[in-house]
Amino acid sequence: MDKGFCEKCNKLVEYEIKEINDKVEIKGKNYNYKRLIGYCKNCGEEISSNELNDENLIRIDKAYRNEEKIITTEEINQILSKYKIGKKPLSKLLGWGEVTLIRYLNGDVPSKVYSDQLYKILKDEKYMNQLIEENKNLITETAYNKVKKVISEMKEKTYSLEIEKEIEIIAEYIIFKGKEVTPLALQKILYYAQGFYKAFFDKFLFDEDCEAWVHGPVYVDIYDKYKEFKSANILIDIDYDIEDIIVDEKRDILDVVVKYFGYYNGKALEKMSHYETPWMNARKGLLPTENSNNIIEKKDIKEYFEKVKEKYDMLNILDIKKYSNDQFKRVIEIA
Ligand SMILES: [Zn+2]
Repeated sequence: MDKGFCEKCNKLVEYEIKEINDKVEIKGKNYNYKRLIGYCKNCGEEISSNELNDENLIRIDKAYRNEEKIITTEEINQILSKYKIGKKPLSKLLGWGEVTLIRYLNGDVPSKVYSDQLYKILKDEKYMNQLIEENKNLITETAYNKVKKVISEMKEKTYSLEIEKEIEIIAEYIIFKGKEVTPLALQKILYYAQGFYKAFFDKFLFDEDCEAWVHGPVYVDIYDKYKEFKSANILIDIDYDIEDIIVDEKRDILDVVVKYFGYYNGKALEKMSHYETPWMNARKGLLPTENSNNIIEKKDIKEYFEKVKEKYDMLNILDIKKYSNDQFKRVIEIA
């Protein structure tokens, strides 16, 4: 446990962390963010800790960029890895000073105009292609060839991606990451990923609704796609680089849910979902073995997982483990 300085106790102490809603003014405008505060475990006074200060600065920076839609350093890094291009050549392509991008990668906040241009490159391969054609004299032939190769490979790949929906790609990622995933477990992992992603990032991972079947929440299209595997592990060939597509927060949440829930078998996961209100609400008035296509409302999923996050004091997604452990305990105690 990290320590912080308590002025009252006049020494380094262990502390407890709480999260509060706070706002910060930047250039005359307020930005909301969740601030972490540490309290001394001996006397309860607020302590000071460089660690918490750093984390709060990161949160402020995130809130500002999020609100103003300014590109993050992570996203700039994504551009570099997506096109296999260096910082300097990319700066040159854009007609910027050689060190401009390096400054941004070190945390300087780009202007809106520069940020928009970077977003366009990140999202639009055609634009990147145009840029590199028009400015190829500004960079080396090697750098030019590398980027062109990446872009042509992307064109081939888009076809196979466009026909898949987000939920299908996410299901493939879960199978890829979990290695031994049965159709039943896949359904539950999708469900928990959807719920916790909403609770932590205030967005749903995918649009599809699930139905409250006898055996728990079910995403019907995904069920149909893999039902031939019955109770065996799903085996599929993934012929594209799925780790390039599932990135950032999505990947983080999927990795955590696969780790902490995928550890249990489908039957245990099914039982866990039976103690949860979204599934119970959707099956009100039904007998335990009665078939149903009732939808589990997204609103119920949102509320339930937000409550879980609060109840278990989840400050970061690794804390999801507390919930999966607890649910499993309930399953074996009641069984
Ligand atoms: Zn103290």
